[in-house]
Order: sequence, then C-alpha cells, then structure tokens
Amino acid sequence: MTAYADFYRQSIDQPDIFWREQAGLIEWKTPPQQVCDYSNPPFAKWFVGGTTNLCHNAVDRHLATRAGQSALVAISTETDTERSYSFAELHAEVQRMAAVLQGLGVKKGDRVLIYMPMIAEAAFAMLACVRIGALHSVVFGGFASGSLASRIEDAEPVAVVSADAGSRGGKVVPYKPLLDEAIALSKHKPAAVLMINRGLAPMHLQPRRDHDWAALREQHLNTVVPCEWVESTHPSYTLYTSGTTGKPKGVQRDTGGYTVALAASMKHIFDAKAGDVYFATSDIGWVVGHSYIVYGPLIAGMTTIMYEGLPTRPDAGVWWSIVEKYQVTHMFSAPTAVRVLKKQDPAYLAKYNVKSLKALWLAGEPLDEPTAQWISDALSVPIIDNYWQTETGWPILTLANGVQQQTTRFGSPGKAMYGYHVKLIDESNGEELTAPNQKGVVAIEGPLPPGCMQTVWRDDARFVNTYWKSIPGRLIYSTFDWGIRDADGYHFILGRTDDVINVAGHRLGTREIEESIASHPNIAEVAVVGVADSLKGQVAMAFAVARDASGLTHEAARLKLEGEVMKQVDSQLGAVARPSRVYFVSVLPKTRSGKLLRRALQAVAERRDPGDLTTMEDPAALQQVKDLVG
Ligand code: ATP
Ligand code: MG
Repeated sequence: MTAYADFYRQSIDQPDIFWREQAGLIEWKTPPQQVCDYSNPPFAKWFVGGTTNLCHNAVDRHLATRAGQSALVAISTETDTERSYSFAELHAEVQRMAAVLQGLGVKKGDRVLIYMPMIAEAAFAMLACVRIGALHSVVFGGFASGSLASRIEDAEPVAVVSADAGSRGGKVVPYKPLLDEAIALSKHKPAAVLMINRGLAPMHLQPRRDHDWAALREQHLNTVVPCEWVESTHPSYTLYTSGTTGKPKGVQRDTGGYTVALAASMKHIFDAKAGDVYFATSDIGWVVGHSYIVYGPLIAGMTTIMYEGLPTRPDAGVWWSIVEKYQVTHMFSAPTAVRVLKKQDPAYLAKYNVKSLKALWLAGEPLDEPTAQWISDALSVPIIDNYWQTETGWPILTLANGVQQQTTRFGSPGKAMYGYHVKLIDESNGEELTAPNQKGVVAIEGPLPPGCMQTVWRDDARFVNTYWKSIPGRLIYSTFDWGIRDADGYHFILGRTDDVINVAGHRLGTREIEESIASHPNIAEVAVVGVADSLKGQVAMAFAVARDASGLTHEAARLKLEGEVMKQVDSQLGAVARPSRVYFVSVLPKTRSGKLLRRALQAVAERRDPGDLTTMEDPAALQQVKDLVG
C-alpha cells in the first residue's frame, strides 16, 4: 500500500480517529465531544459539542505569530489599484465591519446578503459575518436584479452589503440600481443596506435604509468585536450552486466541519504552509471563492490574492505578472479561463518568471487533455485537475500531494479524497460497480465528510429528495456526474448524467465527442448536445469556437473545417459519434461562473424554451445559436 492509500483507508475505516486528528488543525473554544453524529441520516453533524469560530481561525489565530505578514492582497486591473492588508490590519478592518453590521441590527443567526465586486471589503464582510455568528449569503456581483431578488427572498437577510459598482473590461457596471430594483421586486425587504462607495458610479442613498460604509467605519476605528463562539454545527453561510442544470440550490454549510475540512485540505491536498501565497482566480460569488480565496488560505496563515479584472487585460500576461511579483506558490483557476488564454499569444506567458509556483490547480469543468497539455507546456509546473461541487465545499477527486506526491494523468482529476467514500453506481440497477474501467454515476456513501453541505437552506426535503438514494443497507449521495475509475484508482469524469445522448441505441457521452473535436488544431472550445431526431432518436450537434476564425466568414471555409472535424470524430470514436452538424460561433453560452449551459444550448437547438437563464453570462451567445439552427 502506498502512503496515500493507507491514509485514505483510515479515513474510511476509522473516520472517528481520522477526523479527530484533523480537528486538531484548528482552534476550538470547547473541544468536540463527538466526532460525527449520523443518527439521523443523511444529516451528518460533525464535531458535536465543540465550539469555535471561522473568523478566529482565519484571522485572530495568526496574530500571535504573523500579525505583520500580508494576509490579503487586493489587486484590481479595473481601477489600477493594489492594496495589501497584514493579518493585524485585516483583523482591524473585520472588526470595524462587524461593529457596523451589529450597529445595523445584525445578530447571531441573522443572514447578511453580500452583493459585491472583487474588492477587499467583500472579504471583510464575509469574515465579519462569521465573526458575529451571522450567516453570509454571497451573490455573484453583477447578477441581474431578478436573480438577486429571488436570492433575497430565499435568504431573508437583515442587511445587504454592496458597492456602487463593479467593473469589467474597463466598463463600469453600476450595482446600486440593480440592488434597488431587486429589493423592490422581492417580497422580503432587508432593514439595512450598507454601501461601499468606490467612486465609480453615482448612487442615491435611500434615507434610513441605506448607509455609507466609510462614514460608519470612521465611528468604529477602534471598536473591539470579539468572536462569537458558536456550536460546530452552527451554519456559517449559504451559497447557491451555479444553476447549470436548473434552478440553483441553496447550499448550507456548518462552521466546525468546514473549518476543519479547509485546514485539512490546505495541508494534505495543497501541501501549503503558512507564509505561502495563494492566488485563486475565481470570484467570491462561487464556492472556490469561499473556500480558496477567503477561508482556506487564511486558515492556513497564507497570503491570499483577490483579483478584480480579466485574465487578458491589460494583456494576457497579467496573471503571470502577479505570480512573479507576489511570488505566488499556489494558483487555482478554471479550465474555461485557461481556454481564454489559449486563444492568446503564448509569448505573454514567457515574459514572466513563474518558478515560485508549486502547481496550478484547475476545477469547475472537465479539463480536456489539449488544454491541460497546453498550459503544462507553457508553465512547466504540475497541472492538477480537481473535481468537486458547491455542495461539497472542497475537492472530492484530486491528488493529495501533501500526503504523497503523485503524478498527474491528463484527463483525470485523480483519486478519491480522504473522507469521501466514493462509489460508482450502475444506474440500471443501483448496484455498486467494483471492477475497474466501468462507467457509473459518481456517488458518495453517507455521511458526507466534514465541510460538505448540511442541507438545502430551509428545505431539508429538497436535500433528501434531490441528492440521496438508498441502495441496500445504506444511503448514497449522487453527484449527477458519470465517471470511471481505472485499476490504479484514477477517476475520469465523463460528464453529467443528463449529458448522455442516445444515437440509434448507442449511448454516447457528450464529453467524449467534445474531447475528440477539441483535439483539432483550429478548435479552441466546443460544446456538443444531443438533439432529437425522428430517425435515430438523437443526434449529436456541435457548436465550436475556432482558434483562428478569420477565414470562416466564407461558407466554403466553414464547410471545410466542419468536414475535417467530422472526419476526426469518425476516426477517433467512430461514425455513430459524428455530429450531424458543426456550427461555428464566436462564444458559447455559459453561466457567470464560466460553465457551459448545455441544457440551454440543447433546448435552443431543439427549438424549445431554454428555461432558467438567470445565471447566464452573455445572452448574445444563445442568440447566435438560435440564428444558426433557424
Ligand atoms: P447546478 O448544480 O446548479 O446545476 P453546477 O453543478 O454547475 O450547477 P457547481 O457546484 O458550480 O454547480 O459545479 C459542480 C459541477 O461541475 C460538478 O458536478 C461537475 O459536473 C462539474 N465539475 C467540477 N469540477 C470538475 C472537474 N474537475 N472535471 C469535470 N467536471 C467538473
Ligand atoms: Mg450541480
């Protein structure tokens, strides 16, 4: 057995011993009495009887040893600003924010909705909430008022923290009018709104309801707000899933389990040490932003970098210039962002010294081999795929390099992480597939490990009914993703369970077809959907973005490329997988978190109503598809 195999086995066979040890990575006010109470499955209570505080572990805990070290660096290429906060300064800012929130009536258990761009005050607000035992609900900045309104109704926040505006590609996006509209639309009206004025867009403050952060902050420059010690099971926050497959689900997370899970992941998965520098390019509106921009790195005593801006502005070298300047050791991004860079001149990358990087972790979507290979060649550091979900809060599948260095296999996010009793389930009979290389639904036997969702916010029934199924003698959590596991324990994610298409009786994963198409040198990105067909049941239809689209204005050039792509699929997968059409678009429909909205694409390709589009990035993308399919 290898070191990691032993480590994993212990986490599954002796979870109490395993997690009690991990619990020692964080500070408790009262130590836990019981590691896990699973008497009411599928609801798991971790570290029962323990009291702790997430903000204490992320901030206060480090004051004794690293008060002067930089904790948070907020960089904006939108406003051309860069500001670093030491742990001592972060501690002071968080207390000021906590005092202001308390002044606005926020108490333990109350919700605070945070609708913010990627600025330091967003992190202060999150940390301030958990400091006083309030639950934050971060809503991705720039979401339209309808999406925001439904989240306000669901969370029923006492207060909202927001800013005058965000900025994207140099264009100011005013937030306040969207927020005002959302509150007007919502049945629930928050009592107080705290506005951070960046001076980007004029704002009208509503008397009594709206408050100016700068003015209130002045009144609390030296106010001490101690951490509220909460039960381990006290919820820390709620957060919505990306809405790729339908209406977003409100994930509720605990305090103690989450803090332990993040501390453990920093050690075992990221092999991180206090003083290292973490740069996650995500947004605080997503789970990666929660776990690996704000909480994880700070819990580990690292410096975390918060970046507002595009990966391509002022040029495609901007991320690597940050890596060089701040000597970033750990970088976390998404395949979608790497594909954006892949369309740019690779010379931008070569300009910077990125030797400080230990690895680049990528998550959120399947990482196709060509993309992994491209970034690996460009950076010359390990590229580590990791697979997880908003629901789980930390990786389900990846490599635990802190336990044992293991080699990456392109196309695979790696092995089951400790604590996750990962199984592949045969969908036809619900039985576990134990032999290697069999395709099944990726599932996790309960209880879910610490850090994962406690329930769906205010909807236990939805939690149970959506995710859990019983197989003889036990309950399992479904990820709704297909996967296989090879003989060495490496997993491969084949796509979502609803992404399988059936062509004349052959079941094909859209992902396999996409991989094949993406390996054509002139394809930057592609989405394949199954479209109803009277003859074959379903046929595959592809929508592709060309790397060099300059010649594609001519019909003949498009047909030539389409023909090449089809031939490639024929030779790699066989003619059954050949798409009926390959359409060329300039952009694919994606969620604001950069995920392909395949269900919307499929609906439009079948001339149906695309459904809930509230999390969509660019409506023009679907319009192009509509125009093409006619
Ligand atoms: P919703 O659940 O609301 O439909 P969503 O599933 O896109 O949206 P997230 O929690 O942001 O919401 O995404 C998790 C999903 O993303 C996974 O279930 C999986 O389908 C996909 N995913 C994440 N990481 C990877 C990865 N490394 N490889 C393949 N797929 C991944
Ligand atoms: Mg999901």
